Amino acid sequence: MSDGLGKQLSPEAVRIPHPASRIPHPALRTPHSAFRIPMTLRLVLAWMHLLALAVGVGGVWSRARALDDSLRNPEDPRAIRRALVGNAWWGIAAVAWLATGLWRLFAGTEKPPSYYVASNLFAVKMALFMIVLALEIWPSTTLLRWRRKKSQPDARDVGRIEIISYVQCALVASIALAAVAMARAYGGPTAVPPAVGDSAAVADSIHAAASAGAVDSTADDPPIPLPSGTEVATQADIDLLVREIAMPLDGIDPATLHSNFDERRGGGARQHQALDIMAPRGTPIRAAASGRVLKLFSSINGGLMVYAADSSERFVLMYAHLDRYAFGLTDSTRLARGQIIGFVGSTGNASPNAPHLHFAIARSADVKRWSRGKAIDPWPVLVGAKGVQR
Ligand SMILES: [Zn+2]
Repeated sequence: MSDGLGKQLSPEAVRIPHPASRIPHPALRTPHSAFRIPMTLRLVLAWMHLLALAVGVGGVWSRARALDDSLRNPEDPRAIRRALVGNAWWGIAAVAWLATGLWRLFAGTEKPPSYYVASNLFAVKMALFMIVLALEIWPSTTLLRWRRKKSQPDARDVGRIEIISYVQCALVASIALAAVAMARAYGGPTAVPPAVGDSAAVADSIHAAASAGAVDSTADDPPIPLPSGTEVATQADIDLLVREIAMPLDGIDPATLHSNFDERRGGGARQHQALDIMAPRGTPIRAAASGRVLKLFSSINGGLMVYAADSSERFVLMYAHLDRYAFGLTDSTRLARGQIIGFVGSTGNASPNAPHLHFAIARSADVKRWSRGKAIDPWPVLVGAKGVQR
């Protein structure tokens, strides 16, 4: 095992400039990748969106409390005034929610618009927000009339607006719940466990030490081999790989890609030995095979990376340039094929204008040495595995 082999899976295999033009993918032409918003702005937008939650709940709650005071003491003019102040903050929050929310949605600062559209939770969140807005029409016009002294507050309306305000508080709390659930990819297109016989028992009987959570074999498939201690990929190994692997990004037909395994990188000093898959920033990256995470690694060239073993522990799968990891992913997470492990980005030396997944496969003699192995071109494997269901 020379240094040369070691480098095959190392982040050094990734170099600027990435030959994005050689991998024509529609994602490159979407406006999404054209709008690269700096991290600072993304952070500020997310912060303002969240800050509006505090301001809005505070505003609508104080409006409700002030209206309650007004009911108790109708002669107190300050109560209505306080209600109007709370109402103003509530309105400011609504504007901030809409402005920051629409900006994040359409400028794709966080995730591509398709991510939101596909998420049921996003639909729930939007529906709740619409209900809050609809509930607000009558109270805000009524309060505006009071402010302009076009009509006097009467007890019945004051009581109604108070109740509506509390209902809106509860709805906003539900929106917050939908938002945090969405951020953790609940209810979205999440991992679908492989559909197969008694997979856990098979895995245990094959190699308990391998800590493979699930095996994608069917009863007809040959048993998954043990780690072999060699980097030589036999035809049986490749067949196994083709059976257990699936495309790590949704909606991309591997046949439309080109292998760039043999391209020279680093000024011609070495081969790329991986497959670049262009995709909009934020596209979910799924575990291409069941197995386990070996190492969450970060390097100057590869950016945020995941090294994972397949269930046979004969292969190391490497994913680089991630925008971020999936929530809760650790160095020892067991993986089901299709499980979201992270999101496409351009960390490391990838061009910011061409977010992509750098995906590498290596035949490993010992997956504990996760950065080593004999590189295998992922492209024909993925093409061969095209029919594999997630
Ligand atoms: Zn690459």
